[in-house]
Amino acid sequence: MQYKIGLLRGDGIGPEIVDSAVRVLEAVGNKYGHEFVFTPYLIGGAAIDATGKPLPEETVEGCLASDSVLLGAVGGPKWDILPGHLRPEKALLGIRAAMELFTNLRPAKLYPALKAECPLREDIVDKGFDIMIVRELTGGIYFGERGYRQGKYGEEAYDTECYSRMEIERIARVAFESARKRRKKLTSIDKANVLETSRLWRKVVHEVAAEYPDVEVQDMLVDNAAMQLVRNPSQFDVIVTSNMFGDILSDEASQITGSIGMLESASLGNTKRGLYEPIHGSAPDIAGQGKANPIATILSAAMMLLYSFDLAAESNAIVAAVDKVLASGLRTADIARGGDALSTTQMTDAIIAAL
Ligand code: NAD
Repeated sequence: MQYKIGLLRGDGIGPEIVDSAVRVLEAVGNKYGHEFVFTPYLIGGAAIDATGKPLPEETVEGCLASDSVLLGAVGGPKWDILPGHLRPEKALLGIRAAMELFTNLRPAKLYPALKAECPLREDIVDKGFDIMIVRELTGGIYFGERGYRQGKYGEEAYDTECYSRMEIERIARVAFESARKRRKKLTSIDKANVLETSRLWRKVVHEVAAEYPDVEVQDMLVDNAAMQLVRNPSQFDVIVTSNMFGDILSDEASQITGSIGMLESASLGNTKRGLYEPIHGSAPDIAGQGKANPIATILSAAMMLLYSFDLAAESNAIVAAVDKVLASGLRTADIARGGDALSTTQMTDAIIAAL
């Protein structure tokens, strides 16, 4: 089979880690007889430098014409002085909206080989955890009406949160389906004691729950969830939550796994075409030094094989190769704890050899 993959390398370490994932995909293609055709498009700071816009139209058109899209990361100090609508990060919201990606899947799993990286107490670490966070991606306060106005005390700014029944229903279904394929437990996180949007969220999630009697569902307030993630993360299987709560909680969950360079993500809509990216940023502090951990991006490519192309064996082969490399003690600098560290290229070579 031939698959067209759009590449959004972006800024900072983006190009290095995307190129690593491309090499791994090529190795998988050779092994299993698939052809992956890669086409690069500009995004973020690199696109601003070349075209004046963080998300050029050709990029949007190219992504929409691809079977799936792999993204590195965008942003860096060079572009931080630009106004909000011209910032590299604006491109992320733009491409997600253009591709109609309303779901963000963010796994947060503790690798047995990396238990020492987990900042939690030993008895908590020993229980392990494997969480799938399902975050709503195109609604809520990040997309609501916003602005500045004169208020009682002079200048004020406001952002508004709005969720429709349709938006809640479709993300709830994705979460229930995901829970069904895992340990059949769903935690819906909201702030229903204060927010009207959360009260609608809770009501609709309960209505959808009637279609999934085999999935155990519970509600949790977001402040409690933030505590429970560090007190007892093993209680969670699938979490479903709104755009902003999901943004914050998934970063918290990433921290308790120990390394931000290990975590992949997928953004999905109603079609098979998805946007796959590591959860970390462009790490300008280590860009161009060959120190970046490519594993999050390589695992993002593995998610692409599974969710966009239904290539489960190929996807599992990448995950198994990463597990094998970690179990053999090989590490990049971010997870080496001062010990010997491989470069980005050497880690990629090791994963390809393990494949
Ligand atoms: P960051 O994730 O880029 O870096 C945080 C820390 O983690 C840094 O010390 C970095 O060196 C380290 N790190 C991150 N990824 C790593 C990897 N693969 N291997 C080894 N170490 C890694 O977050 P930040 O410093 O807050 O942001 C830097 C830039 O990235 C900013 O411009 C920000 O807006 C942008 N950003 C982009 C995205 C995205 O493109 N999706 C996400 C978050 C931040």
